[in-house]
Amino acid sequence: MRIVVLAGGIGGARFLLGVRAYAREVGAEVTAVVNVGDDLWLHGLKICPDLDSVMYTLGGGADPERGWGRVGESWTVKEELAAYGAEPTWFGLGDKDIATHLVRSTMINGGYPLSAVTEALATRWQPGVRLLPATDDRLETHAVVEDEQGQRAIHFQEWWVRYRANIATHRFVFVGAETAKPAPGVLEAIGSADLVLVAPSNPVVSIAPVLAVPGLRAAVADSPAPVVGVSPIIGGAPVRGMADRCLAVLGVECSAAGVGRLYGGRPDGGLLDGWLVAEEDAGAVVPGVTVRAVPLRMTDEAATAAMVRAAVELT
Ligand code: GDP
Ligand code: CA
Repeated sequence: MRIVVLAGGIGGARFLLGVRAYAREVGAEVTAVVNVGDDLWLHGLKICPDLDSVMYTLGGGADPERGWGRVGESWTVKEELAAYGAEPTWFGLGDKDIATHLVRSTMINGGYPLSAVTEALATRWQPGVRLLPATDDRLETHAVVEDEQGQRAIHFQEWWVRYRANIATHRFVFVGAETAKPAPGVLEAIGSADLVLVAPSNPVVSIAPVLAVPGLRAAVADSPAPVVGVSPIIGGAPVRGMADRCLAVLGVECSAAGVGRLYGGRPDGGLLDGWLVAEEDAGAVVPGVTVRAVPLRMTDEAATAAMVRAAVELT
């Protein structure tokens, strides 16, 4: 059995722990297609927050409390940069994390595509899952915002980390999406999958930029395999993070049904055959989609693997 998972950072990473546990049980192969819309260059370093969240989490090196970055992290470089007044000061870069970005940046500057760099970094972390960036090309999520300084587009990280999504926002733009190509192996993985899962990741700024890579949405929509999504919204609120603010920008109701309808059912030109919602959201209706209510809190690997089993049984 071959399973493909579309994933963002923290929610995607936690879900992948369960997918990997399930896959080990049944002898399946897992490929994760990960969002790169959050990626940025800072201080000459190429940073891939979502790929790193997934890699560190699956590799056992993530900080479980903070949710991002490395466990046992120190912040000497950050303090030194601040002492120079080097901007931006709102983005946290830990010392251990910086080593990852140094290796990655050296390889990128040497001409290696992000997919090859990701594979190289994974030889250390052994995530047990094939990690593919959605694209090797530049695809950056920007938010079109408005304040006293007028209307302007800012990088997603500035919107999320600096402004905490607390600024009037007109829309999101995926810069570079028109000309981006799926990374090598992405379309092949989706085309030969037995099951495609949409992780309980942020639908607006994690999954949408993955689907914005030309050909990727069509590959999922046309996939011969069933496509099952997992709701990141439980009882009308995100479990963690600010997906509610992101959905509001799109005018989409922050509910399991709202996100399900945003993805849409395959009979209506959408993506999903199945949609898992939390028990609190039993009764949610998404036209053309089989909806099932199961426990959706990823408290540990076993609970998350049970979610994956429910997704398989739905198909
Ligand atoms: P990010 O890129 O680091 O923001 O992470 P993702 O986009 O992959 O995941 C963020 C989403 O994960 C949020 O919208 C959360 O609501 C969702 N999430 C986090 N923990 C859980 C959980 O235990 N269960 C479910 N269903 N969703 C969760
Ligand atoms: Ca992210």
